[in-house]
Parts: sequence; structure tokens; C-alpha cells
Amino acid sequence: MSVGDRFIGGDATVLVQSMSNKKTKDVEEVLKQTHELKEAGCELVRVAVNTPEAVDALNAIVKGSPLPICADVHFDYKMALAAIKAGVHKVRINPGNIGDKEKVKLVVNAAKDRGIPIRIGVNSGSIEKRLLEKYGHPTYEAAVESALGQARLLEKLEFNDIIISVKFSSALNTIQAYELLSEKCDYPLHLGVTEAGTKFPGTVKSSIAFGSLLSRGIGDTIRVSLTDDPVEEVKVAFEILKGLEIRAHGPILISCPTCGRTEIDLIPLAKKVEQKLSEFKEPLKVAVMGCVVNGPGEAAEADVGITGGKGVGIVFRKGKVVCKVKEEELFTALFAEIDKIIAEKKEGEKK
Ligand code: SF4
Repeated sequence: MSVGDRFIGGDATVLVQSMSNKKTKDVEEVLKQTHELKEAGCELVRVAVNTPEAVDALNAIVKGSPLPICADVHFDYKMALAAIKAGVHKVRINPGNIGDKEKVKLVVNAAKDRGIPIRIGVNSGSIEKRLLEKYGHPTYEAAVESALGQARLLEKLEFNDIIISVKFSSALNTIQAYELLSEKCDYPLHLGVTEAGTKFPGTVKSSIAFGSLLSRGIGDTIRVSLTDDPVEEVKVAFEILKGLEIRAHGPILISCPTCGRTEIDLIPLAKKVEQKLSEFKEPLKVAVMGCVVNGPGEAAEADVGITGGKGVGIVFRKGKVVCKVKEEELFTALFAEIDKIIAEKKEGEKK
């Protein structure tokens, strides 16, 4: 299904999205962030639509954003209608929370008229009371039953442009919920671990859950939730997709963990290389290794790499030595070699 100029589900690649953490009424702030997110590779941005001022800002946000916009609405069908009218490309709302069937119908008809999808987003904290009573607590089965019940409300109105998410803050529950959901429906799935935490634990939890699910073909779009700058969410999302070899997105850094054989000051060097590589878009594999004995061999798969020891640095390509430099010149020599590779690739493409 299309979301603005992007696609979710079917044969489309896994789409990376994030959510603005600015007040939606602050149009300039939100637009600045959508540009930053686009630069990081983000493909869809969700904004909270929770106040009349936020609703008023949507039209300008949709017009000025370089990325499709998803309106995140809770309960209030009028806000959903206003968001759709403002031109958003997707709405996240749980029809079960709107209550009145006629109101749900109004939202569905507006989405149909605009040709935009609706995401049903169930979190462990938003499961209906009757299901909590049935299951005793917010289990993954309860979340799936809740989501499918909400999807049925839309199906009854002949609306099938549905995306579903069932998020937990536990990676295990998230995996269980999406596994069950994928067995029970064919709708595109938005993967997320909700309230995953700050960058380090949030990255680990999201990697566990998304890795398990995406490696088995479950999931069509992902949002890494971090208590951090949304740009960091996008970076983590692409690292997960690169690790699973689902999408290429800029260079891949291979660096050794260091050990008793390490003969150069590797950790700061690897961090410096990582920082510089973030400026590149080319999908190169770059290795930063700690010793000449095993370094080039261990990184034979890398397009280019460096290693060194006892004051001497080595630059290699696909495991073969290209040149020797002084250890302190390694960083510069590596990026000179990377520039050469990129130039050669461009030359090759012209032929
Ligand atoms: Fe140790 Fe060398 Fe392997 Fe790095 S490349 S972990 S220094 S053996």
C-alpha cells in the first residue's frame, strides 16, 4: 500500500520511520526535524495530533515536509478527520477507542476518499478492559485479539488499507505478539518495541525483537523507539537492517574487539573512523583491525581496511596490502583509499 510516495507491505522493502518529538504546533521545529530525519534516511514521520493547535499546524507540516506524514491520533475522531483533511498520508488511530460506529465510519470514509491507510496501534497499555479481564493481564494474546478486533471494525466498513502494530516494552513479548499476529492476518505489520528505553538498552531490545522477526520475513516497517533524538532511532534502524542484510545504507564498519595481540590504539581510531564514515552514502565495507597477524585475513571480506603495529600502519583491500604508512597516518591513508574506491566505482558505472 502507498503512504505518500513510499510503499509498505507486499514486495516493498522494510520502511524506516520515526516520530517527531517536537510540539506539533511548532511548525518550523517539526519541519527542521523532518529534514534532519530525511538526511538520516528516515522515510515516514509520525507527529502527535493531540491539541487543536496541532491540528491547525498539520497543513503547513504536510506541505513543507520532505517526508510523508502520519498523524498519531488518540480517541478523538474529529482530530482524525481534520488530520485527513489537512493531507496527512496515514493515520494511526484505534477505531475501538472512538466508540460510536458512525464516527468510525466518518473516519474510514475520509481515509477512503483520500486513499490513505490507517494503522491500528495496540500497546500493552492500551488493551481493552474486557480483554484484560479475559487474559488476567496484558498478554501478547490479548494484544493480538485487541488488534484483530479493531481491524474487524474497519473490515466491516469495507476498509482494508490497514497496518497493524502490537508493541510491548519486552522484546520477548513483542516477538510473541507479532509471531501470533502474522499467523492470523496478512496485513502489513509495523514493528516496534514500545518504551524501549535509552539508546543502549533500547537498541539491544529493538535488535533482538526486529532481528528475530525480520529474519523470518515478519514485519514491513520499523520504528526504533529511543529516549533520544529521533535521528538516533533512524541510525539504529538502519544498522539493524544492514546487519540482517535487508537494506544497504551507507558504509558498514567492521572492527575487531581488540585482544592481547592489539598493537595500535584501536578503540579511539575505530570511533574516529566510524564518525567520519557517517558522512558517506556508499555501501562500502570498511575494516579497522588491531594487528597485522590476523587483521587483513579476518577482514578479507572488507572492501578496504586498516591495521598496524609497532609504529607501522597497513592499508588493505579485500585482504591484500595496498600500502604501508606511519601509524599516525593510517586514518588519512584509509580515507584516501576510500576516495579512490569511490572514484573507481563511479568510473566503472560510466563505462
Ligand atoms: Fe586480536 Fe588481531 Fe583479532 Fe583484533 S584482529 S581481535 S588484535 S587477533
